[in-house]
Amino acid sequence: MSKHDFRGGVLIENPYPLNQLSVVEVPPPKKAIYLLKQREGASAKPKVKVGQKVKVGQVIAVSNNDYCVPMHSSISGVVSAIDDQPIAHSSGLKVPSISIESDGKDDWISLKGCGEEVDKCTPDEIIEKIRNAGIVGMGGAGFPAHVKIKGAQGAKTIIINATECDPATLCDDALMRKYPEEIIKGIEVLMYACQSQKAIIAVEEDKVDAIIKLNQTIKNKNICVEAVPIKYSTGAEKLLIKLLLDKVIPTGSFASSSGVLCQNIATVKAIYDAVVIGKPLVSRIVTVNGSALKNPSNYEVRIGSSFSDIVKKSKPSANPHEIRVGGMMMGVDVPDKNYSICKITSSIIVDEIKIKQKESACIRCSKCNEVCPINLLPQQLFWFCKSDNTKKASSYDLQDCIECGCCSYVCPSHIPLVEYFQYGKALVKKELREQELAAKSRERYEFKEFRLDRIKQERDKMMAEKKAALKAKMAKEKDNKAKIAEALKRVNDKKK
Ligand code: SF4
Ligand code: SF4
Repeated sequence: MSKHDFRGGVLIENPYPLNQLSVVEVPPPKKAIYLLKQREGASAKPKVKVGQKVKVGQVIAVSNNDYCVPMHSSISGVVSAIDDQPIAHSSGLKVPSISIESDGKDDWISLKGCGEEVDKCTPDEIIEKIRNAGIVGMGGAGFPAHVKIKGAQGAKTIIINATECDPATLCDDALMRKYPEEIIKGIEVLMYACQSQKAIIAVEEDKVDAIIKLNQTIKNKNICVEAVPIKYSTGAEKLLIKLLLDKVIPTGSFASSSGVLCQNIATVKAIYDAVVIGKPLVSRIVTVNGSALKNPSNYEVRIGSSFSDIVKKSKPSANPHEIRVGGMMMGVDVPDKNYSICKITSSIIVDEIKIKQKESACIRCSKCNEVCPINLLPQQLFWFCKSDNTKKASSYDLQDCIECGCCSYVCPSHIPLVEYFQYGKALVKKELREQELAAKSRERYEFKEFRLDRIKQERDKMMAEKKAALKAKMAKEKDNKAKIAEALKRVNDKKK
């Protein structure tokens, strides 16, 4: 039983318990598609050409931008296309990508890691290795791991987030049971890179096997496992930090900028691979779950594999399906299975099509307020967002909403509250952008006015100086003429 608790949250049972909890290793795919933009911001630029042969682990795209990590091939074969491919999102947005056709050989580059001699490298060199291995936060955010770690260097305690908290996603549980040694070693590497004194692994209290395995593996007295409540959404970073360290991360700032590092457990395993073995991030564990599947499972797959190939292994029913990516609660609905697994794909939920409950009027029951783990007032936020009152919504801390969906989940009127909050946040962003643009054009206008005024003043000064010089010249000429006339008169007078 966990000794920690927090206000709000909801207890959601996994509606589709996995009947195969171990990890199924999927052979390399025949074709892999790599999306070069895994989150907001810059895209990596291809470093290969169509027709070029590549090995597993070879860098295929890079970027100078520190917030964009390199991409490595997860199969050996030939580059077959460099074009735009859709990301797993309802928007249908396409991003630059590289496609590789397999040669069936699974031919790797030679790997060179630090082995047992991690401390022969400086912490900064370790962070550079993490960057070069293309590691991003694998819990779903996709934030570059090296940026987060660099920002938290010197943090006393680091938190390893193993609370996937989404009821239908079990990839972290599977990872902890399969790779406990690699995880603990990865934590030690992370502690060294951050020069931290302590690491806490936060695991949901019902993941008993994982807790036992980790505890049996830990030999370092500075690493411990803390069981946290199974309530959804314990895994939210700021919530977890408050729960374990009693530290509040202010609105709009990252935990790392407050000297706390919270790193997802799959990311820690990837750090072990990168630093100890020298292996870049080319695979991950994905949960494939849902009511339409006969054989839901956790699969260890190569990045770039297709959704449909992986889902096929779980034997979906012949009926039409609803597909959701990234979790039952915080994931997004996507129209089909024509996507590829990327570094942040933690789960694919395949359900039979359900009749959607119709949204009805708010009955002011306050249930949403009771479950909000951030202590917000979702009912009020709903009214403000619905009426585009961004000022009021912001004064009720809309930006603090972690979009966990607890409020929508309990709402008896089936109001998609999170969608309203996402809309409200987008509106605030748009207004801020417009204000910024207006401030910039005002600045430009004022500068133009200032410049014109300065030119006028300079011209007036120049004209006045010219006038004065002309006047002085004319006076001098007059003076000279008078002197000449006087001299002539003197000469004439002499002659006379
Ligand atoms: S739970 Fe739904 S119906 Fe109840 S107050 Fe909140 S928004 Fe209104
Ligand atoms: S989605 Fe936002 S408002 Fe709703 S419960 Fe979660 S944090 Fe609170």
